[in-house]
Order: sequence, then structure tokens, then C-alpha cells
Amino acid sequence: MAILGIDLGTTNSLIGAVDSGFPILLANAEGHRSIPSAIHFPDSGDPVVGEAALRQRALSADRVVTSVKRLMGKRLAEVERDRHPYPLTADNEGYVRVALGNKGSLSPEEISALILKELKASAEAAMGTTMDRAVITVPAYFNDAQRQATKRAGGLAGLTVERIVNEPTAAALAFGLHRSKDHARIAVYDLGGGTFDISILEIHDGVFHVLSTNGDTYLGGDDIDHAISEHLWQAYQSNKFTLAEQDATLQIKFRAEAEAAKIALSEASSQLIRMPFVEADKHFEYTLTRETLDQLARPIVERTKALCLRALHDAKLKLDQLDEVLLVGGSTRMPLVRQFVTDLFQQEANTSQHPDETVAMGAVIQGGILSGTLRNIVLLDVTPLSLGIESFGGLMNVIIPRNTTIPAKAGEMFTNAVPDQTSMLVRVLQGEREMARDNWELGQVEVPFTPGPKGSARIGVQFQIDENGILEVLTRDTKTNTDTVLEVKNAAIDVDDKRVEAMISESVDHAFDDMSERVFTEAKLKSEELLPAVDQALALIGDQLDNTDRQEIQDATEAVKQALANRNATELKQANAELDDATQQLAALLMQKALADASA
Ligand code: AMP
Repeated sequence: MAILGIDLGTTNSLIGAVDSGFPILLANAEGHRSIPSAIHFPDSGDPVVGEAALRQRALSADRVVTSVKRLMGKRLAEVERDRHPYPLTADNEGYVRVALGNKGSLSPEEISALILKELKASAEAAMGTTMDRAVITVPAYFNDAQRQATKRAGGLAGLTVERIVNEPTAAALAFGLHRSKDHARIAVYDLGGGTFDISILEIHDGVFHVLSTNGDTYLGGDDIDHAISEHLWQAYQSNKFTLAEQDATLQIKFRAEAEAAKIALSEASSQLIRMPFVEADKHFEYTLTRETLDQLARPIVERTKALCLRALHDAKLKLDQLDEVLLVGGSTRMPLVRQFVTDLFQQEANTSQHPDETVAMGAVIQGGILSGTLRNIVLLDVTPLSLGIESFGGLMNVIIPRNTTIPAKAGEMFTNAVPDQTSMLVRVLQGEREMARDNWELGQVEVPFTPGPKGSARIGVQFQIDENGILEVLTRDTKTNTDTVLEVKNAAIDVDDKRVEAMISESVDHAFDDMSERVFTEAKLKSEELLPAVDQALALIGDQLDNTDRQEIQDATEAVKQALANRNATELKQANAELDDATQQLAALLMQKALADASA
């Protein structure tokens, strides 16, 4: 049976399926292939989705939910600053919910489910059959929680989500690049209404591999509309107040004119804007030229440059190694954007696909591959952010680095830092920051183990990401073979014991390979071992040293303590090394004593 392909977008959503061997997008009853991702919750009656919901915005802004995709899998604290026109609240765990007055509150996935239900119903009407399996696309930068939330939304809408696919990967499929060459490296430049996303992919013998991704969740055509409407407002008023300081109705009017003019200027070189009765009896007319538009938009478009260069760098590619640059997203229709991309990548961008429909079309094709109606294409994706756990000293210990091809499995062995410790707290983190506190916490689990001397515990921690980018964490006390499994919300747990054992033995070999970044913590741990050992040795055989040696050790010990207090990594490493040197004689004496004791 056919599998639906869905682009669940921030501003607009689309749906399609393979019909008689052709991937097609399905129109709703009004004949539109794209519906606004907007939901109106009236005081009484059922919620309304799409164009009709948007029309209610001017009347009851607090009851029209738009851009709900931005809230998916997020905590209230993360989105509070974003100024949504509707009120937000939080559940017990701090995850965001949309407050709907007398209607209580709904989670972002419950609201997204309403959009999905609407899409599903119109697809079923168009195809004349019920359909309950789907592929849904998400931005490449979506983290685990956001992907999970998207999957849950599908479930709530009565859909089995067979695969979550990164949007740029879907776009590359839609461009049909799997057919064009045996081997190609491509960039997907996706500038939509509210977000920007750049991805570098490699296609080899029909296999898609995402080499790197980057983006900005607050960069897109909306910013350009904002710049134009402020410019129009200044032309209208010529006073010191900004449009942002005016009432909502005026802002909406100017925004709508700004966007319409921007769209017209993708074809025309100038556009007359007419706003009769802007305010009471005031009229406004203004001619916006392409040149002025470009001046306003350029600083916004240029913000994509650094993100593109970073993605190329992460993919370890030079500009001239790219075979294709694909344009996706409505804003790439702007001539300025096309020219900018051509200049940046030093090649003509590929504009052969409909920029608003490419991602949905790719989802449909992926659905076709999964249902067996389209063959010979495999898809591999990558982790958009590094995954790891918090280790000693509050550092991020990366277990699966950013841009690892998924599905993936990796692990490390950890031990106890303190004698007689009975458990270890594993905090699962996602992000690129060095310190654990700056990264996203996906969950935590307390792992019990047999108490013993420092360094005696052997705790294997394994991360497994499935083909949807969903994470499962398994920890094992290898002494007792006791497993603890962390379910990152709704994740299916599927543990293969043999591979776990193999992972653990491999990880023993590499347990401390990845410690180089922990310079200070590592040095500090070393000092914390050295200082008490030196004290003990001095108490035991210190009297056998001459005064100079003893003074040297004392000075070196002080230097370590001072460097610890200064929290200076380089100084501490140096001081540790000097203390090591200064205690050579002491160590030799200890060894002699140990040998003498043993033979006595
Ligand atoms: P998307 O998020 O991909 O649907 O893109 C929506 C954005 O594309 C909005 O900011 C639109 O104003 C913009 N857009 C759509 N069509 C055009 C066009 N012909 N020229 C310029 N911008 C456009």
C-alpha cells in the first residue's frame, strides 16, 4: 500500500504519494497543494486548519497557532524569548504547551497532529482510499527530542511514521540526482520563510550520505519582509517611531504589502505599492524598486555565507569539489539570492525543481522506496549534533560525534572516580559545547554498580541511533552484567546482546582516546592523584631525602596547588610535570623499600 510523503513545514505543509508509479503531490478540496501550517481554535466548535485559520489572525491572534514546528520538542525556557502571538505554558517536565484559554492547553505535537490529520484527510479524499503510513521530513538540525515529537504527532494523527527524513536529503531525492551520476557531491541551500538550512550530501551508486549540515532557525523571507515593511513605514511616516512600535493591525497590513511586493519583484524591476485608507483617511503610495529591495535584503542573505562555509569545512570539501548546488525554499526565487549563491559557490545553482514543493516530493519518493514502488535508492543520514554524556568535571564527553552516518552504535567504558561509590549518574547530552551545562540534556539515568576501590568499576555506556535519528542509551555494569536502559521518550528499545559485548570490549581499548580536550580536568585529576600520594610517601620515607630534595618537592607541591587555585590548565600541566620530576628520587626510594619489604 502506498506510503504518504509529508513536508510538515513551519509556514506551509504539503502531502503526496506515489500513484500508478508516479510521485505526485495531492491538492486539497480547494485545489491547493500547500496549506498554511496554521490552526484556529474557536471558543466553541472544532479547530480549523489552513487558510481559513490564517484569516482569523487579525481578529483573534491569541487563538491562531502558527509556526508550531518551532515549539516541537522544546522546553518553555527555550522558546519564551521568541515572542509568539499566542500564550505558552509548560507541562510537569518543563516542555512547552500552547495555552488556549477555556480550552485548556495542547502540546506542539497535538497541534501538529491536527495539521497532519487535515493533510491525511485531503490525501485520502484525493486517492479515494484510506492511508495510514507516512514519511515525514524534518530540518537537518532537528535534535532527538524534536524528531521524537514529530513522530508522536504522526501517531496522534493516526499515521504510522515509517521514516523521518532530513529535508535536504528529501530535496536531493526530488532533484533526481541519484539518476544523474555515479558519484556526486552536492550542496542543498534551503532558504524558506522562517529558517535557513544548508547541507552537503554525497551520492554514490544510489546511496545518499549527508556529509554535514548547518543552519539558522531564525533566518528567512520573514526577515526580509520585516526589513521592507520597516522601510515602507519610514517612507509613510518619516518619523522616529518604528513599525514594531505600532499596533498589530498596522503591522500586519504593512507586512502583507511588503511580502507581496517582494514576490512581485522576483519578476518585475519595480512595484507600485498602494495602500488606501492605511489609517482612517490616510492613503499611501510608494514605488519599491528591485535595487532598494536588494539593498534591504542583502545583509540578511549574507548571513547565510558563514553557515555555508562552515558546512563545507565540516564536510572537508573545497568549493570546486561540489558538483551541484540545489536551491530549495520559497526565498530562493529572489534573483538576489540566486546571484548570491552563484557567487558564493562559484557555479550556477540548479533551479530545476519547484522550490516550495521539492522537500515534499522527496518525502513522497522516499515513501515510494519504502513501499517498494520505487527501487534502487538507499538513504543514509547523519547526526546533526554530537551526542555524549557528562563526565568528570562537568565536561561533555562525546560518544557519537556530529555528522556520524546513521544508523550508528558506539560506546565507551567509564569507571568510578571515588572509592566505594555505589552508582553513577549518566546524563545524556546533545550539542557542540565543551561544558555539559551548555548542552541539551536528553535524559538521565542512575546506574548502580558493585562498590570497590577507585577505578574498579567497569561501566559500559552505549548509544544507538536508529534510521530515524532516534536515540537509545544502554549502560552495563560489566562485572555483574546488569543493564540499565534509558528510554529517550517513546523510543523503541531493541538491544542485541552480542553486539553490546563487542562494543564494550572495543570501547575498553579506546576508553580514554577522546580525552584530549579535557585538558584542565585531566590535569586536575592527575594533581588529585599526585598530591595525596606524595604526602603519603613523604610521611613514609621522607626522612631519607636530603633537605634540597625535600624543599624541591615542597615547592613543586605548592606550585601544583597554586595552579589548581588559578584554574590554569597550562600552568597545572607544567606544575604536575615538575612535581613528577621532583619526586623521582622519592619514587626510587619507595620502590627500594617495597622490594626490601617483599624480600624480608
Ligand atoms: P517556504 O518556507 O519554503 O514555503 O518559503 C516561504 C518564503 O518564500 C516566504 O518568505 C515567501 O515570502 C517567500 N517567497 C515565496 N515565493 C516567492 C517569490 N516568488 N519571490 C520571493 N520570495 C518568495
